Amino acid sequence: MEKLEQLYEGKAKKVFKTDDPEVLMVDYKDDATAFNGEKKGTIQSKGIINNRVTNHLMKMLEDQGIPTHLIKEISDRETLVKKVTIVPLEVIIRNVAAGSFSKRYGVEEGKELLAPTLEFSLKNDDLGDPLINSYHVLALGLATQEEIDTIAKYAFKVNEILKKYLLDLGIKLIDFKLEFGKTSDGTIVLADEISPDTCRFWDKDTNEKLDKDRFRRDMGGVENAYEEIMKRLMGETV
Ligand code: 5GP
Repeated sequence: MEKLEQLYEGKAKKVFKTDDPEVLMVDYKDDATAFNGEKKGTIQSKGIINNRVTNHLMKMLEDQGIPTHLIKEISDRETLVKKVTIVPLEVIIRNVAAGSFSKRYGVEEGKELLAPTLEFSLKNDDLGDPLINSYHVLALGLATQEEIDTIAKYAFKVNEILKKYLLDLGIKLIDFKLEFGKTSDGTIVLADEISPDTCRFWDKDTNEKLDKDRFRRDMGGVENAYEEIMKRLMGETV
């Protein structure tokens, strides 16, 4: 498969065309941003860890019935994925109050929620990814009701699978953000990434944060946290 011109550069990844119009190549960077790009930095080896952790989790999800965009990992930082049109929503699932949920509703960070929650944000940095409900999604033509239902069903199933898997590795899944895409035949598949950039992972026993909050909140030990996640999930270090 040949890597052709760059299609797009995001905050954490570059996307390239290939000689197959249905296949793209993702290249993960070490660049780190927070607060819609206001805070910028580098996390050493993050691109390698996020590429490998994402593919490891996507493969496991695919094996358990969640369709994903993953085709094949081809190097430490590069992966072939199905070309999709991204549904412009951030789909956030929460098990424990943290981050913007704690702030918005005045709930102490760390409080277990009585049931997992799902929220949509409009994927738009200029607007600060505002919360959006399913009526708005329909009104703006961002997805159909059937697509919204499929996305919600997959997101909750991803939560059940990941929560169990991670707990066995001593990791509590606090919350996470998913993105979905549509293939050329209209199938909804899980896209983007699942990594310490997009999930809150806390150590089961100590509640130590093992994710991007260490970068967002200037807590130090950022690289070690990403390494620890890769070590627990894959038994490997960079
Ligand atoms: P919160 O809304 O509390 O800031 O984030 C909830 C969860 O979704 C966290 O796990 C966070 O990492 C993830 N998340 C929400 N928005 C974004 C985003 O724009 N980029 C990334 N990488 N993760 C996000």
